[in-house]
Amino acid sequence: MQQLITADQVLPGPAGQRIEDGAVLVDGDTITAVGPRAEVEPQADDARHRTAVGGTVLPGLVNAHVHLSWDAGFGMLDRYRAADDAELLLGIAGRAQQALRAGVTTLRDLGDRDGLVLRVRDAIDRGDLVGPRLLGSGPPLTPPRGHCWFFGGEVSGIEEIRDRIRGNAALGADVIKVMASGGEMTPDSPPTWQSQFSPEDLALVVKEAHAAGIPVAAHAHGTEAIAAAATAGVDTIEHCSWQGAENSGSELRDEVAREIAARGIAVCHAYPPDWRTFQRIVVGEERSQAALDRIRWMDEHGIRFVPGTDGGLPTSVFDDYVGALSYYVDAVGWSPARVIDMATSGAARALGLDRVGRLAPGYAADLLVVDGDPLADVTALHQQRLVLARGRAATPETAVG
Ligand SMILES: [Zn+2]
Repeated sequence: MQQLITADQVLPGPAGQRIEDGAVLVDGDTITAVGPRAEVEPQADDARHRTAVGGTVLPGLVNAHVHLSWDAGFGMLDRYRAADDAELLLGIAGRAQQALRAGVTTLRDLGDRDGLVLRVRDAIDRGDLVGPRLLGSGPPLTPPRGHCWFFGGEVSGIEEIRDRIRGNAALGADVIKVMASGGEMTPDSPPTWQSQFSPEDLALVVKEAHAAGIPVAAHAHGTEAIAAAATAGVDTIEHCSWQGAENSGSELRDEVAREIAARGIAVCHAYPPDWRTFQRIVVGEERSQAALDRIRWMDEHGIRFVPGTDGGLPTSVFDDYVGALSYYVDAVGWSPARVIDMATSGAARALGLDRVGRLAPGYAADLLVVDGDPLADVTALHQQRLVLARGRAATPETAVG
């Protein structure tokens, strides 16, 4: 089935491109034409027309860091550990659909057990469920009783590292996740600043994963772990909070930042949608400012960013991704155009996705129709009229006439 979507403006991406009185033509799950309405409309042959007067069409959003197995409420870890597979599968599917209805057409899950997210991914890909494009890591690699050991990815030594990567590849993992440093929320595990793997082990992880054609996402808070991950050649660094040893505060190392930029490694800061409350209650003023300083310092070094929320952690809900993006506009001070670019074509590139993140012929029909102009006010992204995921509507069909 063909669908023709017309609107006051189309933002096809990357940043800077804008088509006034534009149109997008979709055939099945793929975009076949994008341009001024007067040029595209004649190509529409018996298409379903949707007109968004006063609206904007842009690519669907990408959230690069979530955990769909977790329900974003307090006590989520206890519920996760008590849930059987059937409960988790339904929860994963439901939360993926929540994200989709909020405009997120691609979600990258960075840690679950037994690759359950990958089974939901396959159900969506088969068309059994409407949902976003899912990428999943399966169980992250972590040392025995290390950060997030309860996902089932504990490894010790070369053989177990190799076996786990092969096992995750066999589950169909799209990315290998390695917990290069400690983290929060895992009792009796190494502190956040502490490295969990040697530089040699991280290099082995990257070598094995890349040999299988799979990129690597490294969770790293500590500066030592960040440096080792960069040298190992991971593809994305999650959190990247530059913590010095023994909680000594930020330890920013220019030579490491230069290496991250030179290798094209993307950094995912992973901040929740309600970042204002999170900063006020959890982080505090001083650490919030330090986080901003780090982002600006990395930006000065030319490091590219990819947005994510760590969705599933308490308060990091799945249905307000636009809230998370507003951090980069309201706190960091970047333009809406830059942030939209980061959350669409930039994120797709960082995640190694071809034909995603832009509106162009041959690209996936993942798109968002909103009221107003998000380039003038990024919160216009909240005013969603229609979300298409590979051509399928995630919102009520009556939303756009
Ligand atoms: Zn995470």
